[in-house]
Amino acid sequence: MEFISPAGHQRYTALVRAAARSVVGLDMDGTLSPIVDDPAQARIHPDAPALLVELASAVGTVAVITGRPARQAVALGGFDAVGDVLAGRDRELQVFGQYGAERWSSTARRVIAPRPPSGLASFLAEIPALLRTAGAQEAFVEEKGLGVALHTRRMSDPAEALSRLAGPVTTLADRHHLVVEPGRNVLEVRAPGVDKGDAVRSLAATSAAEGFLFAGDDLGDLAAYDAVDELRAAGLATLLVCSTSAEQSALRERADLCVAGPDGVIEFLRRFVSDVVAQSV
Ligand SMILES: [Mg+2]
Repeated sequence: MEFISPAGHQRYTALVRAAARSVVGLDMDGTLSPIVDDPAQARIHPDAPALLVELASAVGTVAVITGRPARQAVALGGFDAVGDVLAGRDRELQVFGQYGAERWSSTARRVIAPRPPSGLASFLAEIPALLRTAGAQEAFVEEKGLGVALHTRRMSDPAEALSRLAGPVTTLADRHHLVVEPGRNVLEVRAPGVDKGDAVRSLAATSAAEGFLFAGDDLGDLAAYDAVDELRAAGLATLLVCSTSAEQSALRERADLCVAGPDGVIEFLRRFVSDVVAQSV
């Protein structure tokens, strides 16, 4: 494990010590599951479900905090099965979907979600014309219920297409009182006022956490990083983990620890669980 900041190793040790009263928040795509061209074809890392069981048994709270709809994340991650095992241990897994707008837990097994933002339907109706005008008809439009994701990953030049679309999509989103969240070859359009930072703050408050570990890979995770920084300033033991990729480097300099994609995240979490278990016996 390579710690980026000199204080990183100390932070890791402090978090291991506070683990029983700490929250572990994990992004999904690019962190627990490898990014693939078609988001519907994504699969969680094969070792992740069993590791989530061990993690949720060792720390205070484990939550997956994702841009995906909660129901989709639960299906993709096999979290019903993870929850079944955890129920036997009197533990649970939480899922914050659509950047925290939706919530699911393996105890309650139902998604709590707000209504779709009022401008979304009219925004969607104007998308085909916008894509035609921008010469980006091949962009993949993923309707998510509370928002919409415009993917350029399958286009011939994804980065160029993304920058070509960013302006017009933002203008249209503004007009319908929606916000644009850029990501790895994707523009997510959704209601303003909810981000992963809110999920972090809510988790820390409801569990009276003494520590918080967050791992992510993309721009949408920066709000969570900000919230964890606030918790650090308030005296909590914290650790920021970056799942690296060739596509995005914004989190690297903010992280305490960088690991190589989902494989690296899994390897790191395995070591973390084993260190937590070792100090508790
Ligand atoms: Mg991600």
